[in-house]
Amino acid sequence: MSLERGHSLNLSGHRFIGYSLAGITTSIGVPEAQILFDVGQGLPWQVGFPFIALTHAHMDHASGLPYLISQKSMQRRPTPVVYMPESALDPFHRMMKIWHEIDQFEYDLDFRAAKIGESYDLDQGYCLRPFPTFHRVSSLGYSLFKKRKRLKPEWMKATPHELAQARREGKELEEHFEENLFSFTGDTKIEFLQSPTARSSKFLFMEVTYWDERKSVANAREWGHIHFDEFLSALSQIQASQIVLIHASSRYTTPELLEILRARVPEHEQTRITLWPR
Ligand SMILES: [Zn+2]
Ligand SMILES: [Zn+2]
Repeated sequence: MSLERGHSLNLSGHRFIGYSLAGITTSIGVPEAQILFDVGQGLPWQVGFPFIALTHAHMDHASGLPYLISQKSMQRRPTPVVYMPESALDPFHRMMKIWHEIDQFEYDLDFRAAKIGESYDLDQGYCLRPFPTFHRVSSLGYSLFKKRKRLKPEWMKATPHELAQARREGKELEEHFEENLFSFTGDTKIEFLQSPTARSSKFLFMEVTYWDERKSVANAREWGHIHFDEFLSALSQIQASQIVLIHASSRYTTPELLEILRARVPEHEQTRITLWPR
């Protein structure tokens, strides 16, 4: 991993960058939508993202926020728009007040409460929608939608000539729709799958913190996380074409995790599951 660039993963023409290791650091960026989901401790590759969505205020997900705000200010970049659970707004404002005191400089802040049921427009036709997650502190997951256009169903079978003719006649051939492109869970118990939005994203980045008998399902649930056994049981409910597993505990080596995937995931599901690089 490079501090300048983070790990990078390409899936079906979409690029994701970042890192994720339970209890240490988690941050995944989606460059095409210019948004960063969680910030880990804050590193140089993250500074260019104008939008940030925080799932919860645990340090391994959110402690880098003051660093990113100061770097952006130093580089004269626009103030980042930071979405977060409503209950985190006041503590983060108070924390920044102390940083203002320490740095003897007042940074511009744009912290916004993210609420279930709301939709927040980003740039270039993307929008952000929070979904419920179930952790030990107030938390949210986020889905990223892309507004697109497509031919209306009644024109799907028309020839290019017919389409050109219809266009000349001023007919409306296209309709708008929103593609549910990406969902990111942050830390949560398996119950996040109750959310239809999270279940039906094209790409689902979900946490699986504990992977074998070294930690039980009960342990995982007690700490507000997901165990691999629960993930396997829930797999058939997940509609994503690609599932990326993040937030694995550092007690497991990467070869151990890959072996668990190989041995336990049903053959027909193997190709849609990826372990985030670590
Ligand atoms: Zn975490
Ligand atoms: Zn957490």
